[in-house]
Amino acid sequence: MTIEFETPKPIENARFLLQTVADNMMRPVSRQFDEEEHTIPFSYIEFMHSAMRAMGGGSAGSLAPGEEKKPEDPNKPKRAPIAYQLLANQLEMLSWGDVGMYLVTPGGGLGAAAVQAAGSPEQKAKFLARFNEEKPTFAAMCMTEPHAGSDTSAIRTRAVLDEKTNEWVINGEKIFVTAGDKSFTERPEFGKGFLVVWASIDPSAGRAGMRSFVVEAGTPGVKITKLEHKMGIRVSDTASISFDNVRVPFENILGSPTVEKTTTGFKGAMATFDATRPLVAATGVGVARAALEEVKKMLAEQGVTIRYGLPRQKLTAVERDVVDMEIMLKSAWLMVLKAVWMADNKQPNALESSMSKVKAGDVVTKITQKAVELMGPLGYSREYLLEKWMRDAKITDIYEGTGQINRLVVARQVLGYSGSELR
Ligand SMILES: Cc1cc2nc3c(=O)[nH]c(=O)nc-3n(C[C@H](O)[C@H](O)[C@H](O)COP(=O)(O)OP(=O)(O)OC[C@H]3O[C@@H](n4cnc5c(N)ncnc54)[C@H](O)[C@@H]3O)c2cc1C
Repeated sequence: MTIEFETPKPIENARFLLQTVADNMMRPVSRQFDEEEHTIPFSYIEFMHSAMRAMGGGSAGSLAPGEEKKPEDPNKPKRAPIAYQLLANQLEMLSWGDVGMYLVTPGGGLGAAAVQAAGSPEQKAKFLARFNEEKPTFAAMCMTEPHAGSDTSAIRTRAVLDEKTNEWVINGEKIFVTAGDKSFTERPEFGKGFLVVWASIDPSAGRAGMRSFVVEAGTPGVKITKLEHKMGIRVSDTASISFDNVRVPFENILGSPTVEKTTTGFKGAMATFDATRPLVAATGVGVARAALEEVKKMLAEQGVTIRYGLPRQKLTAVERDVVDMEIMLKSAWLMVLKAVWMADNKQPNALESSMSKVKAGDVVTKITQKAVELMGPLGYSREYLLEKWMRDAKITDIYEGTGQINRLVVARQVLGYSGSELR
């Protein structure tokens, strides 16, 4: 199979629709929700939920792409699915609008992606179906702990089976959970969300003993202890959550309840990241494109146009900077497209997935910084969104594996080392 560079029609249509959303529902309130950190943009959430339901599932926020519903025409050559390609385009466009607002788009986020990656068919039917119900619903993934960030195998949260009641009892503390509050705190405006919580069922087994559990919104013993104040993506809630003798039904474990001395438990987490890292990269590309387009617009207003096609030595320094920004942006986007194309074609993409995230993290940081630099005081002023995009950019390089950790993943794949051989 070869990669096609022509954008499929359903993707073009989705981009067109989401451009309208970005222009009308995100950009006009971007500054307001950045300043009013943690205020929930209910009208945006309700609008997006109704729009996504009307379009028939596979919501932009869910990270759990729906299957194509139309029956295939047997006379036409079989097309590869485009679910992840579509999602990457949707996320890029929404993040062009406002990446913080994208993060509050209803849907399952990382929580649903974890169910999608490691859940049984019954669990998928039970937990993923709720994102298409009447009320907007959220889910989140709780991996990071005060003592375990990049080294996820160091998590201390424990899940112990109570054989008398056939329930798992979870104890521990999680931090930096995106959408943790919206997923757990019950509100009349939202449907019943859930947290996917990573815990060890056998600490002596290391990574092999790690499992994730679905903890439904409102479960006793769970407490939101803090909402993080952040540099960027300030509309998105980032929660610290404690688990104190939290009981969940036996069947809420994702994956096998028994521990073999392999790393099967942890593979669920890695499979989740292989699917979602290119999508995070796509959000970075969206922010970078927003900054680059704004710079070009502002330069044009000042009478500066970019003379494409001239030899490099004939360009001004500003023109060279803009051309370099465009090259960076295109290369990051092409890496995203390769990684999602592989996901759609069921090809192992751990290498390309991490590469795309490393590249997009670098590119969005550099482009947004350069945009502020080129515009000088206008770039630094809160009158424009350039300074906000520079703050929003950095997260691309932090969550779902920092730039350094993804570089390690790439190095291991390229050199053929295991996690324990190259750390
Ligand atoms: C806004 C936000 C949202 C988040 N959302 C979620 C979420 O929804 N769910 C969740 O579970 N977590 C979430 N996180 C947590 C995020 O995934 C972690 O912050 C990240 O994995 C890094 O872990 P850490 O903070 O403990 O840093 P550390 O692991 O302590 O790393 C600190 C620094 O050391 C570097 N480093 C660490 N190990 C190595 C190594 N072996 N080689 C080279 N460099 C290394 C890192 O790259 C980093 O630069 C979120 C974080 C933020 C800021």
